[in-house]
Amino acid sequence: MGGMEEDMETKNFTRSVLAWYDEGHRNLPWRLTRDPYRIWISEIMLQQTRAETVVSYYERFLARYPTVQALADAPQEELLKAWEGLGYYSRARSLQKAAKIIVRDYGGELPADAAQLRALPGIGDYTAGAIAAIAFGLPEAAVDGNVERVLCRYDAVTEEVGSPAMRRRIAERAKSLVPLDRPGAFANAMMEMGARMCTPKSPACLICPVRESCKGFAQGIATELPNKPKKKAPRVERRAVLLVFARGRVLVVRRTERMLGGLYVFPDVLLSGETAQGDAAALCARMEEMGVPTAYDARLGEARHVFTHVVWEMEIHALAAEECPDVEGGQWVTGEELEALPLPTAVKAARRMAMERLNG
Ligand code: SF4
Repeated sequence: MGGMEEDMETKNFTRSVLAWYDEGHRNLPWRLTRDPYRIWISEIMLQQTRAETVVSYYERFLARYPTVQALADAPQEELLKAWEGLGYYSRARSLQKAAKIIVRDYGGELPADAAQLRALPGIGDYTAGAIAAIAFGLPEAAVDGNVERVLCRYDAVTEEVGSPAMRRRIAERAKSLVPLDRPGAFANAMMEMGARMCTPKSPACLICPVRESCKGFAQGIATELPNKPKKKAPRVERRAVLLVFARGRVLVVRRTERMLGGLYVFPDVLLSGETAQGDAAALCARMEEMGVPTAYDARLGEARHVFTHVVWEMEIHALAAEECPDVEGGQWVTGEELEALPLPTAVKAARRMAMERLNG
């Protein structure tokens, strides 16, 4: 395709997508603002959580932390609590790290520059592009999985995606499509295209605004694209989760591991091979190691949680202790206190069982 033709085609694509977006789109709260702080928060929340879920957290979070300064000053535990339910807590920690840098280096205002945004914790190419385009009107593209899918299909890109070279190529293509007068609307329009029109499994090609020039559609290969490398199945970890009760309290410990770091969980035992079923003696021995003598009480149930790379298959057991001895990184909490602590979604079922016992 010659340069002129390509220019025309690019303009057509951009114009068609914007016209479609202008006709009507989901009225998400963060689409009603150009406040960089609010756009930033919404983009971070949207990174791994569905828009419908984010809606209910977004306003509450901003009411609590209305400014970069407020976010920078928030006690970490309270912040993690406010993030509870959104999952992927490392996002909340990065958010606060970035807020502190913005206060220190930029007087509390997000920098109007994609490269400077990109240098902040938790902000990758996509988020930097989205904030730059939407909040600051800069001619940047925001390429996430949705946009990648639309472009790979539109251009019938059959090569495997995921490599840095491919990522660069798609980012350049996306940038070439950005209209100088409306980069923010275009970024939103592209995300909307990916979410509502060019969906992963059943793209609505027949009503798509760019169908006439979409090569993936013309070649009948749209649903096969993008060509993604096969994902490895997540590893399965079997865990016995121990609810240790004493004097109307239950024991929680603060995780120090990178995954879910800073959150509270119940003590647990990784089960393997011979101990694939948590046997009572082994579970009590584990608590003994932590300095808490216990007697086995009952098996309360099971739960399962799927993270990105690992699945926790949990069996939940109740143990009884007589005293509440000091445990390193641990706390004995009442039902009310348990409710107020930040716990990961993964142990939601265990928490519910603990609450039932404490309140019942
Ligand atoms: Fe996606 Fe189909 Fe539209 Fe092409 S025509 S961009 S494959 S929805």
